[in-house]
Amino acid sequence: MDLYEHQARQLFEEHGIVVPRAEVADSPKEAREIARRLGGRVVVKAQVKTGGRGKAGGVRLAADPAAAELTARQILGMDIKGHTVGKVMLAQPVDIESEFYVSYVLDRAAGRFLAIASAEGGMEIEEVAASRPEAVARVHIDPAEGVTSAKASEIAEAAGLPAQTVDVLVRLWEVLVREDAVLVEVNPLVRTEQGQILALDGKVTLDDNARFRQARWGAEGMEHDDPLEAAAAAKGLNYVKLDGEVGIIGNGAGLVMSTLDVVAGCGARPANFLDIGGGASAQIMADGLSVILSDPAVKSVFVNVFGGITACDAVADGIVQALDSVQLTRPLVVRLDGNNAARGRAILDERAHPLVQQATTMDGAACRAARLATSG
Ligand code: ADP
Ligand code: MG
Repeated sequence: MDLYEHQARQLFEEHGIVVPRAEVADSPKEAREIARRLGGRVVVKAQVKTGGRGKAGGVRLAADPAAAELTARQILGMDIKGHTVGKVMLAQPVDIESEFYVSYVLDRAAGRFLAIASAEGGMEIEEVAASRPEAVARVHIDPAEGVTSAKASEIAEAAGLPAQTVDVLVRLWEVLVREDAVLVEVNPLVRTEQGQILALDGKVTLDDNARFRQARWGAEGMEHDDPLEAAAAAKGLNYVKLDGEVGIIGNGAGLVMSTLDVVAGCGARPANFLDIGGGASAQIMADGLSVILSDPAVKSVFVNVFGGITACDAVADGIVQALDSVQLTRPLVVRLDGNNAARGRAILDERAHPLVQQATTMDGAACRAARLATSG
């Protein structure tokens, strides 16, 4: 679960990292009031759980309270990468001398945390890493030792950050550990013309396994990071948005994970995946298909089911009934195997929907869905 910038800012402040004074508004009038309290000139920042807000026009300077009201009116309701802006944060502007990048992220493969830091902050770190990899330092952290002052100095030195950032690096580690985070990122961490170090933007991802301890974030923090994920969760479905073109529905986490791999092996990329688990009732199928089809990136859908306790004929019945309530607008490839597969296939054959195709093997079905998605 990702936190909003204003929530990350609050955590930073609680752990002694210096941040600009700021308050959150959900109406232009309130933005004006806050700007007045903050001294007039403010930066108006869209609160959405995605990066690149600056480039999208979601971070803008306002010269006085009236301008803050106008700017807030323009930013509220804006769409940034599929996220609608419901709140803005108004922050005191600082005079930036230099911008740095620092983050801690869990490196599962290494069984360690990884510090990523760069003296070239502000822009997207992926771009810096791609064009000037030598400008991005990576230092592994032993989770049992954490970031001591000595470790923080090592990170700062590797990235070419000023010695003043060492204290922030230690405190940022405290945020990660104490707040159950698996990622903390500050971009930019800045040095002001007055020589002060401040965190101007923050991203914190909390460990979902610790949700029960993080009730303080209430409904706002518990919101899903993607609008379709939120719609799916409201229907009790496990749905994850990815960035390819093949929509995937499967039963059981293991099968769904290998389905992603097989689709990728056929040269397409999964657009999302939905695990229908043990259930495959008409309602679940209809809900699942409607969520998957509301993603405009989806060019074909692959339903991959291995019948166990839930027999394939029940799944096929579910698909047939779903076809009555959901308008299928893109091709659907179905692979049914396992318990009652023959009966299930016969049910789909009988329905003979022009956009529904069947394949008997997982590889064959995956490659057909991949081809349908990539052939334009
Ligand atoms: P995003 O990363 O989503 O684009 P940021 O919060 O990093 O949003 O803002 C983009 C840029 O706007 C920053 O790199 C910084 O240059 C500038 N900026 C953000 N907040 C402030 C502030 N309080 N004072 C001055 N400049 C700011
Ligand atoms: Mg940023």
